Amino acid sequence: MSEIVVLGAGLGGTIAAYEMRAKLRREDRLTVVNLGSVYSFVPSNPWVAIGWRNKEDISIDLTKVLSRAGITLRPEGARKVIPAENRIEINDGSFVDYDYLIIATGPDLAFDEIPGLGPERYTQSICQIDHATRTKTAFGKLVETPGPVIVGAVQGASCYGPAYEFAFILDTALRQAKKRDQVPMTFVTPEPYIGHLGLDGVGDTKGLLESAMRERHINWITNARTASVEAGIMHVEEVADDGSLKARHDLPFDFSMMLPAFRGVSAVMGIEGLVNPRGFIVVDKYQRNPAFPNIFAIGVCVAIPPVGKTPLAVGVPKTGFMIESMVTATAENIGALLRGQEPRAVATWNAVCLADFGDGGIAFVAQPQIPPRNVNWSSQGKWVHAAKVGFEKYFLHKIRQGKSETFYEGLALDMLGIRKLKAIHTESAG
Ligand SMILES: Cc1cc2nc3c(=O)[nH]c(=O)nc-3n(C[C@H](O)[C@H](O)[C@H](O)COP(=O)(O)OP(=O)(O)OC[C@H]3O[C@@H](n4cnc5c(N)ncnc54)[C@H](O)[C@@H]3O)c2cc1C
Repeated sequence: MSEIVVLGAGLGGTIAAYEMRAKLRREDRLTVVNLGSVYSFVPSNPWVAIGWRNKEDISIDLTKVLSRAGITLRPEGARKVIPAENRIEINDGSFVDYDYLIIATGPDLAFDEIPGLGPERYTQSICQIDHATRTKTAFGKLVETPGPVIVGAVQGASCYGPAYEFAFILDTALRQAKKRDQVPMTFVTPEPYIGHLGLDGVGDTKGLLESAMRERHINWITNARTASVEAGIMHVEEVADDGSLKARHDLPFDFSMMLPAFRGVSAVMGIEGLVNPRGFIVVDKYQRNPAFPNIFAIGVCVAIPPVGKTPLAVGVPKTGFMIESMVTATAENIGALLRGQEPRAVATWNAVCLADFGDGGIAFVAQPQIPPRNVNWSSQGKWVHAAKVGFEKYFLHKIRQGKSETFYEGLALDMLGIRKLKAIHTESAG
């Protein structure tokens, strides 16, 4: 009998639990350790932030659904992973032992790295459902008393799609409220150009996003280092290609949503061999940690090096399809280990993303992540908004039903002939 533990029940961890369950032998046991018992669909947070969704619309109590699936839930959360002892210290002081561990803890949000940043200070966030709910209150005030808006991401962020998405959704919502004419908007980003997205662009994301911003009168500052934020004013340093200071901007704002840099969560931070200096889990091509080979990792918590050099730190995004591909490979590989075989499944890590504008959107597919690519495709249209709504409905339905099949698999496989698994390798993990 083996104990398999999934740490974190977000977008990656929940489907990892379902896919893993399908690979267990009759005698194996599966436990999910999460902070809380409620799953919340992060990609819908931008809609919550302007009131197009409520928290309840995109949240599911996991207690019943996991129990129905024969999966134990520990909602107390992990204080520390102890890889040398194959156990996790839980926040209530108890321990959970494992034979195999899948880490899916997502990001810790590094607001503290920039003075004045974040929902406890002067800028809003959409990274967590409770942040999005607070942003909705701030958005309500903006509609009542319109003024300048800053949206974007700070240096070291690794998730640009939602920043663009939120800027365009905000534009749409303000137009609907007939207040857009009173709201100057600026997009601030460390990307070297609009549409870089941490992927050095995909297809013509540069052209598509620049054009969409021009059409919607959203100004932008690229190569932008957010130095600090005070009440109503953001201090931004624009750097040249060699990293030297090019210009300082003191930008007034009445409302701002800035995505922070990500780092690993405290339960894994500093564990030698497991994580890199930012606390992201180091994995090989089988999603397995080289120092602790019974630990696998999926999702935003995985260490991925940046795509090429940029003047400011610009991280690689880990989006839904990429995470699904990590999940499938991990479940295959642990399933093989349970049967005395070697891991063979390699995730493609292809980036497939839908960025909604509220009344349209852009979609892109990067295969592989690092250019030059076999598939380097981007497109726009009203269908993207519809597809994103479909993603939300399908994903939430799947979590409620305890199903492991995936939305992006159907979408991407059908449309573009993309696969989740690169290969089933015959050699052993190296
Ligand atoms: C605002 C936003 C919008 C996005 N939109 C899209 C999109 O449209 N399409 C797309 O493909 N991608 C999108 N992404 C990117 C990505 O798909 C999501 O961030 C996704 O939620 C990441 O999944 P994850 O499982 O890695 O982390 P998460 O979904 O963040 O889950 C992490 C889980 O780990 C738990 N956890 C953390 N610490 C502990 C601990 N110590 N003990 C126990 N549990 C713990 C958390 O409570 C959480 O449940 C978006 C990201 C953001 C921030």
